[in-house]
Amino acid sequence: MCDQEYKAGVVYLDNAATTRMAEEAEAAMQPYLVEKFGNASTAYGYGEEAQAAIAHAREVIAASLDARPSEIYFTSGGSEADNWAVKGVAEAYGKYGRHIITSRIEHHAVLNSCHYLEEQGYEVTYLDVDQNGMISLEQLEHAVREDTILISVMFGNNEVGTIEPVMQIGRFARDHQILFHTDAVQAYAQIPISMQQYHIDLLSASAHKFHGPKGVGFLYVRDRVTMPSFIHGGSQERGKRAGTENVPGIVGMGKAVELAFCNMRRRIRREMMLRNYLIEKIMHEIKGVRLNGHPTNRLPGNVNVSFSGVDGASLLILLYEDGICASGGSACNTGEERVSYVIGALGVPDEYAPGTVRMTLSGETTREEIDRAVEALKQNLRKLRDEK
Ligand SMILES: *Cc1c(COP(=O)(O)O)cnc(C)c1O
Repeated sequence: MCDQEYKAGVVYLDNAATTRMAEEAEAAMQPYLVEKFGNASTAYGYGEEAQAAIAHAREVIAASLDARPSEIYFTSGGSEADNWAVKGVAEAYGKYGRHIITSRIEHHAVLNSCHYLEEQGYEVTYLDVDQNGMISLEQLEHAVREDTILISVMFGNNEVGTIEPVMQIGRFARDHQILFHTDAVQAYAQIPISMQQYHIDLLSASAHKFHGPKGVGFLYVRDRVTMPSFIHGGSQERGKRAGTENVPGIVGMGKAVELAFCNMRRRIRREMMLRNYLIEKIMHEIKGVRLNGHPTNRLPGNVNVSFSGVDGASLLILLYEDGICASGGSACNTGEERVSYVIGALGVPDEYAPGTVRMTLSGETTREEIDRAVEALKQNLRKLRDEK
């Protein structure tokens, strides 16, 4: 709720909504905003500089996924990558079938692309999730049909942090010759993902979720997958995504990837330790609370809890007055609904569901910040619960 107001002294626990850009990423971008302003498509010096910078970012990103540079397509972010993946497969493979399988807890970029396709005559099966937010492979097996062309299931959920069984879904999709897309916007650059290990055909990612700039991301497309162009125009991105490249954005994303992947294992260990510390403290020191999402199989920085008998929105406002930035769930839902569709899909009881708070850590989060957040939670819950 306060990503525009990041300042010192504020405990920022909303890293699933967006992250603070790394200073190194900003420094890497700077030359490409002013001095090195060339258009990557021009043949002379300036253009070559931009071209080389884009090629370097593409190689860094490909290497981070054990993929090939030819499999990385730059986009304006996660939403565009999701739209392209879902609608692109529907368009290119529609002649083989018009059935798509996804889950009820996808990001709106996937869900609304599916809704759009339903209007175009495609059929979509929305897989349920269990109380931990996991899809079931059994249900997936039952859902699959002769005319299924795509399975789109996210890697890690943005609200409750559950990591889906991507390895098994990928194997299943491959065995049934169905394409598999995963929205990895919350997982990429947070946990290791190797395209040699996972049978993923398409993967979406977004730079501002891992300390890169906003408005840039990419879609990984396995080389053998046929994808139509998403933006028609010039020949940028091998003719698939026209438009003058966002050179500073791509450079900033490349730098953020480099930073995320050096010391990744140490950062994950530290973040998980702090996350578990936060969860344990809340569970021990506060009554009437439940943890949402999978207890262990969850993104390293995600904590999502529901407090009984309180309104989450009021709690968030009080927390913010105490300098704690948290959120009720996905930034895209705020204001629209009292209980998010993800919390609804998990079947969180009515007594708890409206009192849901998501706190998402980053590599910058400290133990002192966690302590402050828990103190603020305790005080404000006391206030809200006493008023009743
Ligand atoms: C943030 C997010 C998106 C959208 O990415 P943008 O770059 O903000 O468009 C898509 N999916 C998930 C899971 C996200 O968390």
